[in-house]
Amino acid sequence: MKNKISRNKFLKLAALGSIGLYVNACRTENKKKATEASTEKIPADTISIDISSSQNLIIHKKGETIYETLRGGFNKRIQKYPKLIVQCKNTQGIAEAINYAIANKLAVAVKSGGHCFEGFSSNNDGLVINLSLMNTVEWLDNSTIKIQPGCTLSKLYDTILPKRRIIPAGSCGGVGVGGLTLGGGYGFFSRKYGLTCDSLVELTIVDGKGNIHHSKDNPDLLWACKGGGNSNFGIVTEMIFKTYDAPAHFTSHRFKALNVDADRVQTIMEKWFQLTANLPVSCFSAFVHNGRTLNILLTDYENNVKTVQQFKETLTAFVDKITIGTPKPLAASLKNYYGIQYPIYFKNASAGLYENYANIQPFIKDVLQKVIDTPGMIYQINTLGGNINQLSFKDTSAYPHRAYPYLSELQTYWDKESQSKKYETAFEEVQSIFSNNHIQTQYRNYPDINFKDWQHAYYGENYSRLQQIKQQFDPNNVFGYEQGIERKINIS
Ligand SMILES: Cc1cc2nc3c(=O)[nH]c(=O)nc-3n(C[C@H](O)[C@H](O)[C@H](O)COP(=O)(O)OP(=O)(O)OC[C@H]3O[C@@H](n4cnc5c(N)ncnc54)[C@H](O)[C@@H]3O)c2cc1C
Repeated sequence: MKNKISRNKFLKLAALGSIGLYVNACRTENKKKATEASTEKIPADTISIDISSSQNLIIHKKGETIYETLRGGFNKRIQKYPKLIVQCKNTQGIAEAINYAIANKLAVAVKSGGHCFEGFSSNNDGLVINLSLMNTVEWLDNSTIKIQPGCTLSKLYDTILPKRRIIPAGSCGGVGVGGLTLGGGYGFFSRKYGLTCDSLVELTIVDGKGNIHHSKDNPDLLWACKGGGNSNFGIVTEMIFKTYDAPAHFTSHRFKALNVDADRVQTIMEKWFQLTANLPVSCFSAFVHNGRTLNILLTDYENNVKTVQQFKETLTAFVDKITIGTPKPLAASLKNYYGIQYPIYFKNASAGLYENYANIQPFIKDVLQKVIDTPGMIYQINTLGGNINQLSFKDTSAYPHRAYPYLSELQTYWDKESQSKKYETAFEEVQSIFSNNHIQTQYRNYPDINFKDWQHAYYGENYSRLQQIKQQFDPNNVFGYEQGIERKINIS
């Protein structure tokens, strides 16, 4: 690994660096990877639409250095080899690339920030539309911004925080606004202002027939893309968001227990669920169990002294170290959570959304023991809830899980490709504890290729309506992938 850091520091960065850190790509596809880069030219007779001289895009083929640079994603576990990577410069370029793909019968994948846990933003032998050049943030007025999907969260924060404005987005600096928003998106500010998608007021999209649509004319598309939009109906090219007043300061408090066993983690977990049941909306908490260490993070941006005191009083008897933070400027504080910025080997996925501790109490000790026995494995629970469950947000978005105030995630990190199988097997053993115990509600932005009924796990009762929208805007399944929304062929 180029940037060498100690394993402990790495796992700390990984877990707390992305409050909702962060993936089984189709195994057959993984195995099918090309062994050599090819310098193959596209046969002229297959190009019924010529995009080679378009000013709206740049085409990269196997064999080019830049193809290799753009091919990978954040997850080194997943390696895919598209036939072409097309860097689009604008909406028109995306429409041209899609029309080219349709004419040449190439499957289309789209990549914004490239942080998908399962590598759904690439494909083998198809066309990948890369949006890294479409990364601008433009102010439309004092509180409204237009963002292109390839903008990363670090660039977003660098642009809006100096104007004392915020969007309730995620914590990892390298995540793309595109993928994050279309799957929901949550972060430190979500309990007060809703999911990232709840701040989305308008979008432009190129559908599976190469047609450009604006959500003003298609309210259903806006609804669908708020939680169900990851490469299902088209490629989102621009998004307009409302912003909120940013707090000047942000405080992080930490509670740490060392040399823990499963019983102790479970005891503290029960206390944590009690403490977080009535958390003020300006606070966020994460419960992070990493081997023999347990970390609890409590963040606050409205000086909730009583809550901090309650955490301290309740946890003093159970943890070994308490670090009560002091308010720090917001921009500098958020940078502490940007996490690792270079590709790593990992398998992460949603391990269920919960209503309360009772959902997991009967079996969670088995999970905690497995985490202790598997170095590199982390089990984390994050607080959602608060205003995420507001009716106005529920009615206007496809994100279905608002009544679940806790989001858990299982994470595993390793150093070498040869270790992948071992860690994936351990990961699946833990995931099966959850599924055998009927934990079936999952976050689309934390996908796992092994989820059985992923349709309802991700989209709940909204799945059928999403299928109809899929049928309307991508009837030929140009954007199809392993867990892509299926078309509703027979609409009654
Ligand atoms: C380190 C790390 C930290 C994270 N932290 C958080 C967090 O704090 N909060 C949170 O909610 N989530 C978090 N996530 C999960 C994250 O929200 C998802 O991985 C998200 O989908 C990534 O978006 P992306 O644009 O970077 O990824 P990509 O891999 O580019 O895209 C993800 C998915 O969206 C589709 N997509 C991308 N752009 C478009 C587009 N323009 N139009 C249509 N479809 C598109 C892709 O095809 C793919 O299916 C984290 C993930 C990682 C790896």
